[in-house]
Amino acid sequence: MMKSGPRKTSTTYQVGLDDTDSSDGMCTTFLTFKIINLLTKKGDSRLIDYPNLIRLNPNIPWKTRGNASLVIRMESKLSKEEVFSICKRMVCKYATSKRANAGLVVFEGETIPEEIREFSQRALYDVQRLALALKIMDEQQITYFGLRSRQGLVGALAGIGNELKNDYTFELLAYRKNCALRRSIDKSRVIEMDRRMSPLIFNSYDEKNDHVLIMPHGPDPVLLGIRGETPSAVRSAFDMLLPLKNLLGFMIFRSNQGTGEHLRNELNLSNPKAYTSGIVTGKVNSKPTILRGGHVYFELKNQSGRIPCAAYEPTGEFRMHVLSLSIGDEIEVGGGVRKGTSIHPMILNLEYLLPKMLQPVYRILNPRCPKCSSSMSSKGKGQGFACKVCGFKSFSLVKSKYEVERVISKDQLYLPDLKAHRHLTKPIQRYMLEPHAEFQDALRKNLILAK
Ligand code: ATP
Repeated sequence: MMKSGPRKTSTTYQVGLDDTDSSDGMCTTFLTFKIINLLTKKGDSRLIDYPNLIRLNPNIPWKTRGNASLVIRMESKLSKEEVFSICKRMVCKYATSKRANAGLVVFEGETIPEEIREFSQRALYDVQRLALALKIMDEQQITYFGLRSRQGLVGALAGIGNELKNDYTFELLAYRKNCALRRSIDKSRVIEMDRRMSPLIFNSYDEKNDHVLIMPHGPDPVLLGIRGETPSAVRSAFDMLLPLKNLLGFMIFRSNQGTGEHLRNELNLSNPKAYTSGIVTGKVNSKPTILRGGHVYFELKNQSGRIPCAAYEPTGEFRMHVLSLSIGDEIEVGGGVRKGTSIHPMILNLEYLLPKMLQPVYRILNPRCPKCSSSMSSKGKGQGFACKVCGFKSFSLVKSKYEVERVISKDQLYLPDLKAHRHLTKPIQRYMLEPHAEFQDALRKNLILAK
């Protein structure tokens, strides 16, 4: 039962949602799309920001896909109880899978408390406990609701605490009417869209691997997603793909995708923690080798400790850059710590490589024969060289030492192939962009939203 009727004045609410999806289907972004349509239809609620799509620590093992948390920030004439009741009804209606450990958080007010912001920052790179989320919410008198294990409350609370104050991007997500119908898209139109709109849109097409990146393959209701720098860019790109079969509707989200926000903290090699993300600087301590499955491994060492690092097969050409590292090279790497098992040690799964200082690498060559120019062979220690072709012998010729040109360069950033990027991975062209101050005004004045 609703406790009170509509108010005359508006109140700010920040609604966090997580874990309403599972590999059986559904998607929390779709539930957000449904709730927003419902709340804004009557005219007593108005969004004050694009819905936020916050990606959290990508190394959380119990995530379904991309560890997304969703936030609706709005002004409403409805009471908190009414907003909560509408959202709760929708969560219960859609989060029906046995594996959907849904979380719903309704925060009233404009200013997010510092404690929630800190919780949120840590959720980008560490494992946060549900007990801590519950304690914070009880202390802050936040209204919440969870289904099954209620783990989704961690993401829902972390979501509202990330206000995307620094860097951010946008994603237009389009949904399908019938999830039983196979998704299909004309690849040439995606390539043309990517050619015309890049770099204002990104990660739509992986040219190197001839791979369309905007269309997922799971059972969820997402038809496609276009990532970009501004709402108008993703909208224009989407328009280039129309008409689309099986299209239900679309919504634009503001996001930390493509910002690299999860790779800010320093990993401590004296005690690396499983499932954390972070960066580490150190020296290459073993020659990188390519092993079964095409994965490349080496050991990294610094004053705190050492850790095996891996560039897995799907990272493509990135592995070749990693493979070209030499013992003693000073590098910075970012990635996620994979838990050790009885078979594998704890491993840092690399998401970028930045060489800081490269060791000179030399090649030692036997002398060339002065008579016939063939490469000579050593006759043994102190025995001189002999030419196998013309038989010329010499005690005076010596080996020569050449510095070999390195395949990688100092201070250049190396990333995995696009198809292996995480949602949070900052694409290479985004390093050239200034933070988005110029887009903020446009954003507030002109919310380009769903139909
Ligand atoms: P999709 O990409 O399809 O939206 P998902 O990958 O977001 O799915 P969920 O089903 O939402 O996966 O599951 C992620 C779970 O992990 C949620 O319960 C969320 O609360 C929890 N979680 C997210 N970040 C953390 C964290 N840093 N520490 C602990 N739990 C977390």
